Amino acid sequence: RPLVALRGVTKRYRTGTLALNGIDLSIRQGEFVALLGASGCGKSTLLRILAGLSAPSSGSIDWPQAAHDASGDPLRDIGFVFQEPTLMPWATVMRNVTLPLELAGVNRTEAEDRAAEWLARVELKGFEKAYPRALSGGMRMRVSIARALVTRPRLLLMDEPFAALDEITRFRLNNDLLQLWAADRFTVVFVTHSVFESVFLAERIVVMAPRPGRIAEEVAVAVEGA
Ligand code: ADP
Ligand code: ADP
Repeated sequence: RPLVALRGVTKRYRTGTLALNGIDLSIRQGEFVALLGASGCGKSTLLRILAGLSAPSSGSIDWPQAAHDASGDPLRDIGFVFQEPTLMPWATVMRNVTLPLELAGVNRTEAEDRAAEWLARVELKGFEKAYPRALSGGMRMRVSIARALVTRPRLLLMDEPFAALDEITRFRLNNDLLQLWAADRFTVVFVTHSVFESVFLAERIVVMAPRPGRIAEEVAVAVEGA
């Protein structure tokens, strides 16, 4: 059973733009999928639909492994990382990462233990009391990744997360993300317009075609040693 299965998903915005046109896509638990395509081909729209932030105009999305709430909606278990780190500027790095846990009802002490563990995993040990503005763009991105993963979501959605960072920082973050994934095997859907990044990171590359908002091709990437 896939983690999520989209069938015939179409999205037409109120402006008339047909952003997605009949997307069929299944994602397995633990898979690292890159969504690759030029800008305007519908990658962000597809991600927002997976996140439940936008509804498809037609077609279906099934979460066969998810529990459902009283009205039958799937309880999605998702972490989201955007290109612009959406950290709270008035809160410390620690508080930014504990907040999702506290919202989930975890007590403060345990939340701080878990957040400290994730901050160490993203190489931010020692920065717990810093404020986001004191950090570089790459470090802020690391905080965003820790915040997205601290609740251990099944699915991590990343929308061109590293596109605004310099090449070296970006390469380091790609390496570190891959290590986190190899250790924990959460499912990742990673939107990018970089062929290099998608080949480096993903087990499967879903290439989107411009204009019609369709999947042009799916490419399986051979993993070293596999
Ligand atoms: P990508 O992420 O690949 O750049 P998007 O999903 O952002 O593509 O956009 C796909 C198409 O839908 C584009 O033509 C874009 O202008 C349009 N679009 C995106 N969001 C909206 C919106 N909220 N309302 C109207 N049109 C939109
Ligand atoms: P949804 O049905 O997914 O909520 P909407 O069609 O309601 O999407 O559009 C969401 C908002 O994005 C609207 O307020 C719209 O004005 C705005 N928007 C319109 N065109 C674009 C565009 N090309 N890219 C991004 N946002 C857009």
